[in-house]
Amino acid sequence: MSERKTARETADMAQSFVDLHCHSTASDGTLSPAEVVRLARRCRLSGLAVTDHDTVGGIAEAEAEARASGIDFIAGIEISCQFPTGTMHLLGYGVDPVNPALTKLTTELVGGRDDRNPKIVEKLNQLGVSVTMDEWRARASGGVLGRPQLAAILVEKGYVRSIQQAFDKYLGSDGLAYFDKERLPAREALDRIRQSGGLPVLAHPRQLRTGNDAELQTAVKNLVDLGLAGIEVIHSDHDADWVCKCEELANRFGLLKTGGSDFHGTNKKDISLGVANGRRVPRAYFDALKEQLAVVHPPIRPART
Ligand code: AMP
Ligand code: FE
Ligand code: FE
Ligand code: ZN
Repeated sequence: MSERKTARETADMAQSFVDLHCHSTASDGTLSPAEVVRLARRCRLSGLAVTDHDTVGGIAEAEAEARASGIDFIAGIEISCQFPTGTMHLLGYGVDPVNPALTKLTTELVGGRDDRNPKIVEKLNQLGVSVTMDEWRARASGGVLGRPQLAAILVEKGYVRSIQQAFDKYLGSDGLAYFDKERLPAREALDRIRQSGGLPVLAHPRQLRTGNDAELQTAVKNLVDLGLAGIEVIHSDHDADWVCKCEELANRFGLLKTGGSDFHGTNKKDISLGVANGRRVPRAYFDALKEQLAVVHPPIRPART
């Protein structure tokens, strides 16, 4: 009886879905880490990775809730890197949240935001938009101040009608109050993720905005040479064409395939946890990542006496 149940559970698991890319209030999401996990359970996801920008501050809470909820969990982080044409984000899976290399890195990354953010607020003030750093800080319970929180304040104050409009008019790369933050060279981000026990994965390759497929392939090849372990195939910005392109790149370079919604709660209203542009993320992606992490961190066996 119990054996049959186990076989059934195994079969259910194989057909289940996961989300390997989402944000909590530790960075620029609007649900707390525990709330994201509880939502994952309501959405019947069997596995989750929380990947906040520049911080692992939400991982302990999410992991504890995942254990209580019976959801398999992988610690994650998302790091912005230098790239000439567009946005390069690297996801770090399985990083050890208390590793000194990681703590040093997150401290530096938050420092880069501290340099940028007052410039954005000052520029907005010059443009007649009344907003303060204190208001922004009050929105960022996790200590990582991201532009979506500021965008939400601008919506609430009636300066714009939507978060997207806040980005288009003020905060996005073509906006009137745009300032970039200090970004890490990809090599450094890859090294630090590896040093802290994680596997580096290229997030949403479409956002690299490479001019053509050859440039995309070169960009991925360069990262592979520096230790890239995987590529995000399924993502809310990826249509069928991009899913296919990324699958081909994964096969060509022997990379892990990952996927996630990039859920941010109400800071990105169109994105639901567990769904990426109409697609769901197969459990097999989670299992392959876990398997590879087990190679990086072999389980410690008690010494024989
Ligand atoms: P930050 O970490 O403060 O640089 O902000 C990055 C966040 O802003 C990410 O969640 C992005 O998805 C979001 N973001 C950046 N550019 C845009 C844009 N043009 N429209 C909407 N969201 C954006
Ligand atoms: Fe974000
Ligand atoms: Fe990203
Ligand atoms: Zn993200």
